[in-house]
Amino acid sequence: MSRDRIIVTGAGSGIGRACALSLAEADCDVMLAGRREDVLEETRELVMAASPDAKVVMRATDVGRPGECAALVADAIAAMGGLEGIVAAAGHYAPQHVLQITPESWDETMAVVLRGSILVAVAAARHMRAHGGGRIVLISSVNAYESEPNTAAYSAAKTGAVSFAKSAALDLAGDGVIVNTVAPGFVDTPMSADFVASATTEQMRVVNPLARFGRPEEIASVATYLATEAPGFLNGQTVVVDGAQSTSAPIP
Ligand code: NAD
Repeated sequence: MSRDRIIVTGAGSGIGRACALSLAEADCDVMLAGRREDVLEETRELVMAASPDAKVVMRATDVGRPGECAALVADAIAAMGGLEGIVAAAGHYAPQHVLQITPESWDETMAVVLRGSILVAVAAARHMRAHGGGRIVLISSVNAYESEPNTAAYSAAKTGAVSFAKSAALDLAGDGVIVNTVAPGFVDTPMSADFVASATTEQMRVVNPLARFGRPEEIASVATYLATEAPGFLNGQTVVVDGAQSTSAPIP
């Protein structure tokens, strides 16, 4: 059976790294992409140690630069010999009060958190459409459904990913290209390290009924399912993986 070839952005840490490990375990070859070569190299070593049969290539890529997104997809196809999927996990989180939003800060958030994933997805979809289809998975956030203070731009970007998936799935439905998103709740990764370090168990109980953060592997297993074996009828959807965080209205 041939191996699927999949790009993972944000693969140097957290959820992206867990996705790379999980996809390789599911017999995929992976292109690791992210800004920092040193952490991508760490991920590459971890994946190769866990899944020696996987082909693992990497490319330092800033998805905030539009030309880099298309170049990443072209390089991935050249290095792996094709492309059946992407998992777009690159992102950053810069808390900011809504009244502090400037054109520059807005553009910066959108460029990385939304546009970067979308431009990788569009370049990949062009190739997939011409080669029998493929699967696109964007990592959104539960912030698309609920929010917290100082996240207006970030939450708008994550909501954009959910909308993009719905509409792109429609446009590409006849081409065998499936587009879904995963919306994690709070997950223990470098992005949430400050909160993870400072949150008391009692605060966690208010944030999440399970009184714990999600683990990157719990998001990765869902992203891997969507990127590989999920039925094609599951299309244009967002799977919320949040330990019921978004279903609860905390009562103090
Ligand atoms: P993380 O900081 O460990 O991972 C983000 C990765 O993206 C990092 O490796 C970073 O280097 C990379 N990155 C940042 N800017 C980039 C750019 N311009 N180009 C390429 N790579 C870039 O955090 P994480 O929690 O694993 O985040 C992964 C995704 O999950 C993000 O999209 C994030 O918004 C989303 N998410 C995280 C949480 C959480 O609680 N951790 C919750 C919901 C959604």
